[in-house]
Amino acid sequence: MKKFYIETFGCQMNAHDSEKVIGNLISDGYSQVETFEDADLVFYNTCSIRDKAEQKVFNRLQNFRKAGKDKIFAVIGCVAQQEGEKIFEKAPHVSLVAGSASYNKLSQMLVQLEAGNKRVTGLSLDTDETFDTPMTRRDNPHRAYITIIEGCDKNCAYCVVPFTRGPERSRTSESVLNEASELAAMGYTEIQLLGQNVNSYRDPSPAGMNFAQLLRAAGQVPGMRRIRFTTSHPKDFTKEIVDAIAENPVLCNHVHLPVQSGSNEVLSRMLRSYTRDEYMRRIDWMKNCGRDIALTTDFIVGFPGETEADFEATLSLLDEVEYDAVFSFKYSKRPNTPALSLSDHMDETEKSRRLTILQEHQRQIQIRRNAGYVGRVEEVMVEGFNKATGQWIGRTGQNKTLNFLHHSGDEELVGKYTTVRVTRAGPNSLAGESVSQ
Ligand code: SAM
Ligand code: SF4
Repeated sequence: MKKFYIETFGCQMNAHDSEKVIGNLISDGYSQVETFEDADLVFYNTCSIRDKAEQKVFNRLQNFRKAGKDKIFAVIGCVAQQEGEKIFEKAPHVSLVAGSASYNKLSQMLVQLEAGNKRVTGLSLDTDETFDTPMTRRDNPHRAYITIIEGCDKNCAYCVVPFTRGPERSRTSESVLNEASELAAMGYTEIQLLGQNVNSYRDPSPAGMNFAQLLRAAGQVPGMRRIRFTTSHPKDFTKEIVDAIAENPVLCNHVHLPVQSGSNEVLSRMLRSYTRDEYMRRIDWMKNCGRDIALTTDFIVGFPGETEADFEATLSLLDEVEYDAVFSFKYSKRPNTPALSLSDHMDETEKSRRLTILQEHQRQIQIRRNAGYVGRVEEVMVEGFNKATGQWIGRTGQNKTLNFLHHSGDEELVGKYTTVRVTRAGPNSLAGESVSQ
């Protein structure tokens, strides 16, 4: 039996793609191993969202070249789709290059490799099929991902995703809901609906559901206790989605709504297709919906032409929204993207300076916000146990990490739900003690 090793870089979409690839490989008779050394086949599932992420895979390929003399190397995912056959020039020991839209042909590609073919590619984006795999090897026994939409039609000026993941293709609502029911039957209680832009979900079947309707239907699947979704584009984020969350506690009170900048000029150059006011209207829907929805976002600093005043507008948006968490990045030039031709690209030192200021500003907001949780009782899903601190690791519906002490014996809590009183708060997590029931 051939053994494979897989390393995954990047976002949840990639993590879930790897689960599907692993499922495929196992059904084809391969077995997974935990170390590079033990493998015959080495897969890198790659990310190209920023230059640093892309360089990681080339460093890996370089570092392991000698040690992997007898191994077959496969580069899959976004770098594979973006660089295509150029990967064979940069790393001649690679034998397979495939983008995510070709994973349904992976078995055929592996047959070609087994037959001794040294250069196999799967780079077509020209597919209507979404990746419905017969088997998905899931990493977590309690929380599962379900892809509802692949690709992206938005073309934001800085972003490589439309080139690496191709145009949008939605799965039928029937297939999504069947997968959710199967997962519930297997004992999963939490699912996360995935897509680059879940809000533009359009059911291709006669049921014709939009995203809010799909969310409502998923919220009715017996056995599911928590439903999350990511990522949302503000333009397609409707009031109907907020209403669905307000009505059903199974739909988690956390929304990740990437904004990228607080300045209208920058948003317009980014081709984001909304203004700050339009974004704030969506935030107001959530703040006034009757449920305490945690808000998180993404920012890019140092986009070409971002002035000091534009950056100040971003800081003022942090204060206005008071996010629960923020993911912030320095703008990184990406191949093929419209932003490359903009003038006034900024030097790295200034981008770093702005990033540090933004992160420190947000840290203070999180310290303040999280302090407000002390004394509250929260329901957590238990994800693990930290031997070093003796604390269980829990996650709240709002997606906050809540580490807690549990005094009654060494009962296995992982995968269970319990209530915890928050006693301490830091910028990135909460701590507490379980409440006896
Ligand atoms: N589809 C999602 C959206 O519209 O927000 C997210 C896609 S991307 C995987 C996640 C985040 O990476 C984006 O929200 C953006 O902040 C960041 N990002 C994308 N391209 C970037 C670039 N060229 N440089 C820096 N950050 C980038
Ligand atoms: Fe990239 Fe914009 Fe699509 Fe998100 S919506 S994946 S940022 S192009």
